[in-house]
Amino acid sequence: MMQYNMGLKGCKAHLENAIIIHMSLKIKPKILKHLPKMLKIIRGEARQWRPPVAGTFVNSPHAPFKILISTVLSLRTKDTTTEPASHRLFIKADTPQKMLTLSAEEIEKLIYPVGFYRTKARNILVICRRLLDDFGGKVPSEMDQLLSLKGVGRKTANLVLTVGYNKYGICVDTHVHRISNRWGLVRTTTPDKTEEALRRVLPKRHWIAFNDALVSYGQNLCSPISPFCSRCKIAKLCPRIGVRHRR
Ligand code: SF4
Repeated sequence: MMQYNMGLKGCKAHLENAIIIHMSLKIKPKILKHLPKMLKIIRGEARQWRPPVAGTFVNSPHAPFKILISTVLSLRTKDTTTEPASHRLFIKADTPQKMLTLSAEEIEKLIYPVGFYRTKARNILVICRRLLDDFGGKVPSEMDQLLSLKGVGRKTANLVLTVGYNKYGICVDTHVHRISNRWGLVRTTTPDKTEEALRRVLPKRHWIAFNDALVSYGQNLCSPISPFCSRCKIAKLCPRIGVRHRR
């Protein structure tokens, strides 16, 4: 009997492994063949809206530093609050050296009312100290090193890599996570799992610009609760997976 049970367990484990292997080798999502066209259309649409905050610093001096710090500020905060707060802060300090001349209270005042502004002010000082002590005052351009900075998660690290250094990465925030699932590109429950899945299915040539295109679209049309599908120029190509209410 015991042997029989072990056999069943072994069989079950084997089956689960087989499913996992099958899933990882799975046929590519159908939407992939339309993806270049969809991305072209939504990039065209995005021209009428303000770009996501990090993108506004891409051609400015000390861009990787500004992208890093503005993305730290943007966590749980709307772009309309993050953008002016970032500008107020960078007028006073746009390098780690200058930032360390400010106190946490001064930074708090400059970045208020971004969410968790007290914690973020302290994290910014810790980040700047690390940049000076361990990275020669520069923002690192490797994922592991970025993730070792206080308060920096995969979203921020990927954004610094892609927007700041034009390196391969996929920055997945709430908009990219939601829209990738609505399009059926992935079937995931968290942004981190979406990034992992997108790294498997998304052709590399789309990685860097993917966040920029989808964030604008998510902020303005493909909204979380009730997307504006009637105004969406890719509606015919979108399977709208999980969309219950739409406008
Ligand atoms: S059709 Fe609707 S769900 Fe699909 S991308 Fe457009 S707005 Fe989003």
